Amino acid sequence: MDYTILVNRENKLDEDYYEEFVKPSLVVVETYKNNEVVYQTFGIEEKKTYLEKKTAEKFEELRNFCLENNVYLGISSGFLTFEQQGRKYEYFVNRHGKEFAEKSACLPGYSEHNTGLALDCDIFRNSKWGGIALDSEGNINSDTAWLHGVLDRFGFILRYPSGKEHITKLKFEPWHIRYIGEELAGFLYKNNMTLEEYYENLNK
Ligand SMILES: [Zn+2]
Repeated sequence: MDYTILVNRENKLDEDYYEEFVKPSLVVVETYKNNEVVYQTFGIEEKKTYLEKKTAEKFEELRNFCLENNVYLGISSGFLTFEQQGRKYEYFVNRHGKEFAEKSACLPGYSEHNTGLALDCDIFRNSKWGGIALDSEGNINSDTAWLHGVLDRFGFILRYPSGKEHITKLKFEPWHIRYIGEELAGFLYKNNMTLEEYYENLNK
């Protein structure tokens, strides 16, 4: 498994790689919804949530570390098949229009959710889930800011940070994290760099 793989609007996940490496690597992860229906609202009904094996292990470590620090972390979505990704994209188009969909969702093969290395997390705060969402002024709360500061210790990065929208081509997503390995995660975090910028610098 290539943990540093770049998947974005310009770099599609290879379908052979997806079949050969991604699918066999998936394991079920425990969600706060107890693996009841997940993603029903995006036109997807999937009862289980999957992640790539090592990503799942590291997420567990991160979740436990959060718990020790009184931050209640959960997962709301993990791996998506190409087919589910297509339905999610359609959902965004039908509900919000094409322009919004293009900033908020990806076509099948162009989403990190197809790799098993990315997940959308959430924080339980003030007696409810949704604690990782932006407030009405577009800000994050202290639990979320704290989480973003410890991700790299477990090999995760905040994949679509604020201020980098012109590079990632996706709006700020405080909930979307990507496993990339401790070393590279630490490097990107220290240098305030996205994965796109890392590869662009490498190719210079
Ligand atoms: Zn996501």
